[in-house]
Amino acid sequence: MELYIHIPFCVRKCLYCDFLSGAYDKDVRDRYTNKICEEIEYYGRGMKDASLSSVYIGGGTPSWLEVSSMDRILETVYDSFRVEDDAEITLECNPGTAVKDAFKNYRDMGINRLSIGLQSANDDELKLLGRIHDFNQFLRTYEYAREAGFFDISVDIMTGLPYQDKRKLYYTLMKVGQLKPEHVSAYSLMIEEGTPFYDTYNFDSVKQQAGMPTEMLPNEDQNYGLTKLTEQFLEEHGYLKYEISNFAKEGFEGKHNTGYWKRVPYLGVGIGAASFLKRKTDVGTEEIRTKNISDMEMYLKTSFEGTYEEGVNSSAWEEPDILTRKDAMAEFMYLGLRMTEGITRDEFEDAFHVTIESIYGPVIKNAVADGLMTMSGGRIALTETGMDVSNRVLAGFLL
Ligand code: SF4
Repeated sequence: MELYIHIPFCVRKCLYCDFLSGAYDKDVRDRYTNKICEEIEYYGRGMKDASLSSVYIGGGTPSWLEVSSMDRILETVYDSFRVEDDAEITLECNPGTAVKDAFKNYRDMGINRLSIGLQSANDDELKLLGRIHDFNQFLRTYEYAREAGFFDISVDIMTGLPYQDKRKLYYTLMKVGQLKPEHVSAYSLMIEEGTPFYDTYNFDSVKQQAGMPTEMLPNEDQNYGLTKLTEQFLEEHGYLKYEISNFAKEGFEGKHNTGYWKRVPYLGVGIGAASFLKRKTDVGTEEIRTKNISDMEMYLKTSFEGTYEEGVNSSAWEEPDILTRKDAMAEFMYLGLRMTEGITRDEFEDAFHVTIESIYGPVIKNAVADGLMTMSGGRIALTETGMDVSNRVLAGFLL
């Protein structure tokens, strides 16, 4: 099983951000730390046989939480669960939020992977995004991490930014490439409702999606060019694309996210955290997807007394979705096909006891004929063209 811990604290909100995060005072941060520890203990008491293959501390900005609080949370994880010897333990970190000594402390806590949010090496772009740091602050953070002994670092960058052209993106890629992180995530900017970016750029984004000329955001063709530049640059610099937006040096693919795409069960703790769990019923095993409540005050008032029991909902959960067999098959396909290695026929058959052809024969046949998918030796994967239009191809697997 995997564990996700949500730390929703940020110094201030970035202008494009619609994640569950915000600037909370120290009193809330302390109460939240207590509550999240209670929640971890509650599950630990009930999941005696579970062992954790990965722990991902995401946010928000987990590196903005006091080091002593982070230490308490991880101690609680170790006391409550068996953590596998080779478990990947990742902390998301934003430049300008952790002092040098913190990284040494993170290592001592067992954290062995960092995911650092850079987004751009151009200071004007960082300013436009409302990030709290400049590129030099990122460099210092990166240096502290390396000095403290982190040898598995992921750097996040963004494409499709307002006014971004190939020259600007190339500069970011070049600066990141020089540092040789083990992993790079490259996501395209999405203009989300309710953010300041929505007010400024939504008009342009609608035109972008309709394939019309835009003034501020890159148009569809330009966006495609930016994505291809990223892929080409990273591949030439020794990174393998192993998922639609993720690139890694060999052996450094993120275990935690790969688990999501392979449908490994995960438990999420903290506000808004999602879980995917399997539980035994009288007639077999059922799969559920659920999410914690998103309201901070409600979460802080939640009681985690007692012990988690399969079949009894946690008091922090919103109503869980019980997956039907069709839901599970569709997820298997559209999550698995996000990975460049794709999925195999045997895996499908092991999971569902029917052949993949009996469910998806025509969809696969058409996608192969259109050059969007390959099927060879029992392995099914998207082609490069299929990856470029993955939303459309993957939607074909919904049942
Ligand atoms: S640091 Fe990340 S989570 Fe926090 S406001 Fe910025 S984008 Fe959102």
